[in-house]
Amino acid sequence: MSTPQSGGDEAAAQITAAGGLVWRPADAASHDDDGIELLLVHRPKYDDWSLPKGKHEPGETDEECARREIEEETGIIGRLGPEVGTTRYVDGKGRDKVVHYFEVTDPVGAFAPNHEVDEVRWLAPEDARALLTYAYDAEIVETFAAGRAGATAEASAVAVPDAEVLVAVAAHGASAGEVGAVMSTPTLAVPTAGARLTTYRPAPNDPADWFSADELARARSYQRPLARLRIVRGALSAVVLVVFVFGEVGPRLLDALDVTNWVAQLFVMVAALELVSLLYNPALDAWVDLKHDKEWGLSTQTTSGFVGDQVKSLVLGLVMNTVLLVPLYWVIRTTDLWWLYGWALVLVFSIGLGFLFPIVIAPIFNKFTPLEEGELSRRIDSVARLAGVDISGAYVADESRRSRRDNAYVAGLGATRRVVLFDTLLEHPPAVVEQVVAHEIGHWRLHHLRRQIPLAAVLSFLVFGFLKLLSEWDWLFEQAGIPTNGSVPAIGNPAALPILLFGVQAGFAVTGLVSGWVSRAFERQADLEALELLQQPQVMLDMQRRLHVKNLADLDPNRLRRLQATHPPAAERMAFTKAWAEANHLTVVPPTEPPAPDPESQPQPQLGRW
Ligand SMILES: [Zn+2]
Repeated sequence: MSTPQSGGDEAAAQITAAGGLVWRPADAASHDDDGIELLLVHRPKYDDWSLPKGKHEPGETDEECARREIEEETGIIGRLGPEVGTTRYVDGKGRDKVVHYFEVTDPVGAFAPNHEVDEVRWLAPEDARALLTYAYDAEIVETFAAGRAGATAEASAVAVPDAEVLVAVAAHGASAGEVGAVMSTPTLAVPTAGARLTTYRPAPNDPADWFSADELARARSYQRPLARLRIVRGALSAVVLVVFVFGEVGPRLLDALDVTNWVAQLFVMVAALELVSLLYNPALDAWVDLKHDKEWGLSTQTTSGFVGDQVKSLVLGLVMNTVLLVPLYWVIRTTDLWWLYGWALVLVFSIGLGFLFPIVIAPIFNKFTPLEEGELSRRIDSVARLAGVDISGAYVADESRRSRRDNAYVAGLGATRRVVLFDTLLEHPPAVVEQVVAHEIGHWRLHHLRRQIPLAAVLSFLVFGFLKLLSEWDWLFEQAGIPTNGSVPAIGNPAALPILLFGVQAGFAVTGLVSGWVSRAFERQADLEALELLQQPQVMLDMQRRLHVKNLADLDPNRLRRLQATHPPAAERMAFTKAWAEANHLTVVPPTEPPAPDPESQPQPQLGRW
């Protein structure tokens, strides 16, 4: 707390300021049970009520800054006590602003209106909270009042809402005594009204409420060619399938090469299908990564990086196909109950992949480094502690070498579970990244990855049931030139691999609608966790807006895209955030582009109110 800070540096991601909770004993006539009055200031420039505070001057400590600002604004000096806590918000210029608040006792001096402050009021904490314009100011007052209640051995009298706010403020990463004490007993914030929000149905929403016409048009222009490209890709793979089946390509190829061993036949078929897809897939990918996304400023991919990724994907695909297809064909060729064993095999494979993904697969494409010690890692630790989970820090993926897109995810099961942040995300203020991390911690805390396993089991069981039905459709195999009266079922003939793959893909396309629905519910639950944990709906809205706009996400997806998506669209998540805020009597406003620079870098006047 005593380190010199430099305030007002445009280049700094974080603006620090300090202020005071200046109090005096209430006079005897007051019936306030706390028996104190707090000093509030009215700033004519913003027409708001806040606590006395201001930005650091170069070389000033937090304490010096607080003392000076209080005196400049109110003419009052007092005895500086311990730090009560910090408030944190994204200011009008999109910067992360942190204010350290100190208790100030024994005030002396007289107020005279000045250019910064035209009125002061002494109010009981309850009334002060009601008058304060910004929710974060009201929170710090609540923290202070609760801390006093605790200090006077009335801890049991602290109402539940106070406890909530204490926990919420602790999440802001304050390092001061009182708040630190709360952080040492990590519990999740007591569920607020948010717990009553449904997460299995979309929140009613209109993208025009959250994004400007320009932004919506921009997203549409970016997305439209990608939608066409998906159609082209789908059509090409349908053509390949039709040609393979009705052109009897499989049997002809195996005859021509005179391959008789079924394992060798399987390799030939896998290689043949891969070669055909090499005729069009890399070209389509290159158009997206090296042209379209480059033109839109989203891609940083180089040609050699692109080729490297393609080769890695190809090799990985071949390895995974071998690991999965050889045993699958073996059970198909060995037992009538192949669909049951095949299902178990795919399930074990998927769970194994879940374990291995972060330590084996992901590192093929990205370098992962533990997040460096600093402001953000401290915040992440405190959010994790607050949520009662041990994530042991986060990993940063060097995604910026191919893309500018922001993302983060939780991957792995058990010991391999980890939170991963794309390095592209770190250019946002820590308060914004903290929201993303709180969301990921929500997934972690609710065991969303593990909980998807039973669902995956049911859905893949249905897919294998469908494969069993498909395997009995003799007509189809006859068209493909595959005998249906052999010793092994026709679907167990490697020449029928295109049919098997078609069955699997069609099956998962349909069951994907169910897993998408559950995934979207999980996303809403993770958003809800982040809101409950940090209680900063305005910052959450800012985060949603920044990420979706920067990523040129589909802001208004059509019905089918909505049903297939793993995440609800941006506007829906923002409407959900607003609904949560309203249920908790907080007012939020649609975040906008950071406004033109303001020399005082004040918060937007309409930030949350109680
Ligand atoms: Zn998520």
